[in-house]
Amino acid sequence: LYPSVGLSSTATSFAKTHDKMEEVHDTHYFINNEFLASSTQKFIDLYDPATNNLVTRVPENTEAELKAAVAAAEKAFPAWRATSVLHRQQIMFKFVALIRENWDRLAASITLEQGKTFADARGDVLRGLQVAEAACAAPEFLKGEVLEVAKDMETRTYKEPLGVVAAICPFNFPAMIPLWCIPIATVTGNTLILKPSERDPGAAMILAELCQKAGFPSGVVNVVHGAHSAVNFILDEPAIKAISFVGSNKAGEYIFTRGSANGKRVQANLGAKNHAAVLPDCNKNQFINAVVGAAFGAAGQRCMALSTLVLVGETKEWLPDIAERAKALQVNAGFEDGADLGPVISPQSKQRIESLIASAETEGAKILLDGRGFKPAKYPNGNWVAPTIITDVTPEMQCYKEEIFGPVLVCLNVDTLDEAIDLINANEYGNGVAIFTRSGPTAETFRRRIEAGQVGINVPIPVPLPMFSFTGNKKSVAGGGASTFYGRPGVSFYTQQKTVTALWSSADAISKKADVAMPTHN
Ligand code: NAD
Repeated sequence: LYPSVGLSSTATSFAKTHDKMEEVHDTHYFINNEFLASSTQKFIDLYDPATNNLVTRVPENTEAELKAAVAAAEKAFPAWRATSVLHRQQIMFKFVALIRENWDRLAASITLEQGKTFADARGDVLRGLQVAEAACAAPEFLKGEVLEVAKDMETRTYKEPLGVVAAICPFNFPAMIPLWCIPIATVTGNTLILKPSERDPGAAMILAELCQKAGFPSGVVNVVHGAHSAVNFILDEPAIKAISFVGSNKAGEYIFTRGSANGKRVQANLGAKNHAAVLPDCNKNQFINAVVGAAFGAAGQRCMALSTLVLVGETKEWLPDIAERAKALQVNAGFEDGADLGPVISPQSKQRIESLIASAETEGAKILLDGRGFKPAKYPNGNWVAPTIITDVTPEMQCYKEEIFGPVLVCLNVDTLDEAIDLINANEYGNGVAIFTRSGPTAETFRRRIEAGQVGINVPIPVPLPMFSFTGNKKSVAGGGASTFYGRPGVSFYTQQKTVTALWSSADAISKKADVAMPTHN
């Protein structure tokens, strides 16, 4: 059995193939440590993006099934929160070890369902695994503070779990984003309902199996499936105290507004348009490798993809070199040796990307490298778009204003660093940005003035490791980015602070009059 269907908690074999399956199994859901078949009549067909062969059918869980998931998580919460942090840490150690053991199996599921290359899928797993590893430090990061605030009086703080929390995930990182949530939500003592993307839930189902094997008690981690109606259920269910969302602006702004209106904590990471400013004094070869890898890797379907190049001064002369290196990338199905980028997620996505390229042509930009119409001989039915470079782009063009989310690099020209900074700051997104220069003062000026949440200096994809936090800015986060994922802010998101002030006086009270003025603690 292909394990992504979640039929068996003991499945260990996996296939690294795009061959048509002899038998297609429906994906199960996961409640109380059991894999269950949904009784729904509504299924979403899931196709291998490299072939468009059917891989599995993903159920849209019924309301009764969604309610059962909440009931399981609610029931599990009191005993789970009562476990010691050292006990939860031990489970997290096992979870980490199991992810490592199942690394290739998780990656194979991602390549089959999402399309990214096997090597890139292993990176997807690693970036999530690192969050689980960081969560093992819970005894340290859950420590509170204490201060003697007055004579015989001390104030202490505690970080307590919220209760049942939920995560709603996107298609582009099927292991990493669930792993931004599962480890930190649970190690802090919450119980979780995870809704993976309906387009590639296989990795989340394997993670569910690993949670069970790691020793998470029944009901602590639950996985449900569906699209809008499952999300609406999560948004309106009173027992769910907090929602973590990662995905598009359209869904995320709606989820943030409706979830917040229902009194829940919501953290929401949204879309992006990440720019790189290139200065003539940079290391040209390092820059070209960096931009080509970061623009076209994962077929441009990363929220931190470097999709927009701001060429300062004479660096516009380097475009032919960039195009040559982009052209050398191998576009192929993800299990094929040597594949640099795979297909995009769906035929609809391919069509949307191609129409944005066409709009650039209509609006007067130039297509320096055109990836439309490419097909690897062995996989004629996949959703292929090869690396595409659009030059002479201006900020009013549609290809500049919209997140393309495909292997397309749009290039704008400016004369100075100031112009580059102004242009980037005028863009409404603010996820990531990069500058390529050898000058420390130039990099420092850029760092200080740029309005993006994550800045790379000669680093094309500056995603912070989990001892830091993922800090998008502007339209790339909902709610002004007040709640960010993982790191110390991630722990704060999943915990309620409690502050206790205690008086331990041994002396008898002498005064017979109550003091009604605000205490000064002097
Ligand atoms: P998406 O918004 O289509 O889907 C994300 C989740 O929301 C899915 O679980 C889906 O079922 C649900 N959903 C979709 N539309 C909905 C609606 N109208 N109402 C309720 N729920 C809805 O996003 P996607 O296409 O899966 O992912 C790609 C997007 O995610 C890109 O915009 C990318 O930039 C963004 N992303 C951002 C980050 C980040 O950290 N900033 C990370 C990864 C991806």
